[in-house]
Amino acid sequence: MKYKRNHSKGQALKTKFRRSAKWIKFRKHMKSKQKVCAVTGKPLAPTANLHHLDMREENYEHIEDESRFVFLSKTAHEMVHWLYGSGNNDWRGRLKSLWKILYRMESINGSAA
Ligand SMILES: [Zn+2]
Repeated sequence: MKYKRNHSKGQALKTKFRRSAKWIKFRKHMKSKQKVCAVTGKPLAPTANLHHLDMREENYEHIEDESRFVFLSKTAHEMVHWLYGSGNNDWRGRLKSLWKILYRMESINGSAA
């Protein structure tokens, strides 16, 4: 698995934690429990991510409360971070705009799938 190269100390600590036996064991446990992506409902691929709902850096290694974690497919995970990311406090606005675009696409093309 490749890791993104980054230079912030916080990111480096997060990467280090994700390589720890504690995290790897927890991740495996959560994967066997959840089985499917919380967004798509599809089986979890090896590229799926165990997402921290609590994004506060000081709580990154707090894995005691399983309800604060959710498995997401790679794409769903990127989408979640894109919607709720640093420097973006308008996820509702982004969702509303996406919703409008998808409705327009559906009215032009019909339902996907
Ligand atoms: Zn995440």
